[in-house]
Amino acid sequence: MSFQNPVFIPGPTNMPESLRKAVDMPTLDHRSPLFGQILHPALDGVKKVLKSETAKIFIFPSTGTGGWETALTNTLSSGDKILAARNGMFSHRWIDMCQRHGLDVQVVETPWGAGLPADKYEEILKADTNHEIKVVLATHNETATGVRSDIGAVRKALDSAGHPAMLFVDGVSSIASMDFRMDEWGVDVAVTGSQKGFMLPAGLAIVGFSPKAMDALETATLPRTFFDVRDMGKGYANNAYPYTPAVGLLNGLNEACRMLLDEGLENVFARHHRIAEGVRQAVSAWGLELCAVSPDVQSDTVSAIRTPEGFNATDIVTHAANKYGVAFGVGLGEVAGKVFRIGHLGSLTDVMTLSGLATAEMVMVDLGLDIKLGSGVAAAQEYYRNNAV
Ligand SMILES: *Cc1c(COP(=O)(O)O)cnc(C)c1O
Repeated sequence: MSFQNPVFIPGPTNMPESLRKAVDMPTLDHRSPLFGQILHPALDGVKKVLKSETAKIFIFPSTGTGGWETALTNTLSSGDKILAARNGMFSHRWIDMCQRHGLDVQVVETPWGAGLPADKYEEILKADTNHEIKVVLATHNETATGVRSDIGAVRKALDSAGHPAMLFVDGVSSIASMDFRMDEWGVDVAVTGSQKGFMLPAGLAIVGFSPKAMDALETATLPRTFFDVRDMGKGYANNAYPYTPAVGLLNGLNEACRMLLDEGLENVFARHHRIAEGVRQAVSAWGLELCAVSPDVQSDTVSAIRTPEGFNATDIVTHAANKYGVAFGVGLGEVAGKVFRIGHLGSLTDVMTLSGLATAEMVMVDLGLDIKLGSGVAAAQEYYRNNAV
């Protein structure tokens, strides 16, 4: 591996120099007011990135997976009913976590490559006239398949069924890269981590709780200690934390929010869309197909690319790492060996992306796929040339 090449995995993402510097700081006393000068702007920044006026933000030393657990254990009790769709590895893992916590999950099996079935959710919610379903889970961006779902449509499904269930959204690979509207979509818990859109090392679980989710703390009886948001939030006003905070990461998060808000969230989303579109142009020039079944669900943060029948897509990832020192993502779960993934979120430019596409071409030609060197790169170049900002 070369440390000079950017990575093209969908997290952890490339770190801008300024964030590496922000994370690398001397030890400070986390019980001093100095810590507050890091914590509070980070909490405020996250709230803005989530587009929320009312959410309470909690940040744990953990990862996105810890964020899932925070969402469940703080709001639910054993046996509570959950509605969720399985359309990839990440939605699968959140469902698995629910089941291991003794929750009763109604799973809507959905093709890997398709988005969340909002109409099916609506049908199920309408039939649940006793309002037994407590939470609807939604994975905004299925990182395994490169599929973005319509969270606004899931909200509409809840509203048109007149159903009071809470809406929990996994935004680990969408928040800070693709449009996310916590308040407008009526999201009750939003979950993310530090190492994707926020361009930091792994190590933080970042969650936003709506007022309704905060109310659910009072009735929830699932055991929780490390991830109890009541302990976490209790001391925030006095710059206190229930245990030792990851100060450097929080400092980085503060800086990351500043960078994102300075660029402007809409510009950040437009940049991700433009970069992703160049990748899609390349994929189609190669004559390959995305795992995402239709353009409306194509993700702007990761593309999962199907390789021809009988070819092991994982070989692309191994060969790229060994020969060229470049990291792509492997296929996971049901699509293991069938797709390879190009992550295109976080700190990335058109020029960096072109280098990844050029590498993917060399790898595919090395491995005997019928691809012409330069074909995908040229398609992306044309797109970037004509859509420069
Ligand atoms: C990366 C990811 C996760 C898991 O996050 P970790 O930080 O690895 O625990 C969960 N959901 C989605 C959609 C992801 O992309």
